[in-house]
Amino acid sequence: MFYDELQQYDWDATTDAIARKTADDVRRALSHDRLTIDDFMALISPAAEPFLEQMAQKSQRLTRERFGKTISMYIPMYVSNACTNHCVYCGFNHHNPLARVTLTQEQVKAECEAIRRLGPFENLLIVSGEFPSLNGPDYLEKVLHTCRPYFHNLTIEVMPLKQQAYERLIESGLNGVVCFQETYNEANYKKYHPRGMKSDFKWRVNGFDRMGAAGLHKIGMGVLIGLEDWRTDVTYMARHLLYLRKNYWRTRFSVNFPRMCPAEGGYQPKVVMTDKELAQLTFAFRLFDHDVDISYSTREKPEFRANMMQLGVTSMSAGSKTEPGGYVSTPEALEQFEVSDDRSPRAVAAEISRLGYEPVWKDWDRRFD
Ligand code: SF4
Repeated sequence: MFYDELQQYDWDATTDAIARKTADDVRRALSHDRLTIDDFMALISPAAEPFLEQMAQKSQRLTRERFGKTISMYIPMYVSNACTNHCVYCGFNHHNPLARVTLTQEQVKAECEAIRRLGPFENLLIVSGEFPSLNGPDYLEKVLHTCRPYFHNLTIEVMPLKQQAYERLIESGLNGVVCFQETYNEANYKKYHPRGMKSDFKWRVNGFDRMGAAGLHKIGMGVLIGLEDWRTDVTYMARHLLYLRKNYWRTRFSVNFPRMCPAEGGYQPKVVMTDKELAQLTFAFRLFDHDVDISYSTREKPEFRANMMQLGVTSMSAGSKTEPGGYVSTPEALEQFEVSDDRSPRAVAAEISRLGYEPVWKDWDRRFD
């Protein structure tokens, strides 16, 4: 399990090693076809800032070689904001006195139909808070059955589950799982996740092994940028990705670097990442892993997404609503976070085409399941 491997790494030593990287380390990393973790640390370090243009060019070339000029389109569907966790940075935090909504299957069906009217989406990301008795595996199984006739590719972003639960959901049409470790800093993890299931760092980080062992086709991972030193956190994530690739080589992987947005409860990020730094990180990840899907959500602004889709990003959401029932109407539920790109999916797709790329709505067929 990855938790055991994690024990050999030291957070402060990793932070120091990144800070000590020099221009020579960056040049050496750029000369390699296959990057080591040490090379990756050089490329995300402050020493790499003057090399951004070179990194961008290499990232663009590798992305075009592997993915062509395509952007895979997906859309999230929030099915429940009921949550027993107390994540200090999230509007769905158990403390927050907001209307809790868990969609009925009829409402899920109505959401599916509303999404299909927005655009020809086939990649659906089903998102839920963590409240096992309300939105656990039994509920998710029903949701998957309801969504199956509408979409070819179903992914969930929900609480980490047992391996057997993933296997059961795969039988119901599940193709992928997205899970955010939020931070790999175990010493501080409890500060951000003081209570609830999510406070168990080890259970969460080992969840990726359970996904891989269950045979999921695709696993998405990420850290929440704004909690801890982002350079150290993404280095741990790169180590984790390397580990997963070695152990679950049949699985595809995606990464996402969500920057913290304002949420109900007013939590302020401890660390702010600039656009330039996010670009640097994106290029470094592409150079580190040529095949990983790099996803940008509607948290990012339209102009920035347009630039980055030409330089390393390979999938994007569009038209996103971040509250349960948001595509039909929003009577009472609160958004999990504010979106920065509120253009319609068709407008996003038109821009992708205008830039010479192809928006790909369908890249999986349910008969492959
Ligand atoms: S981040 Fe997820 S688990 Fe944490 S409070 Fe929000 S919905 Fe619940």
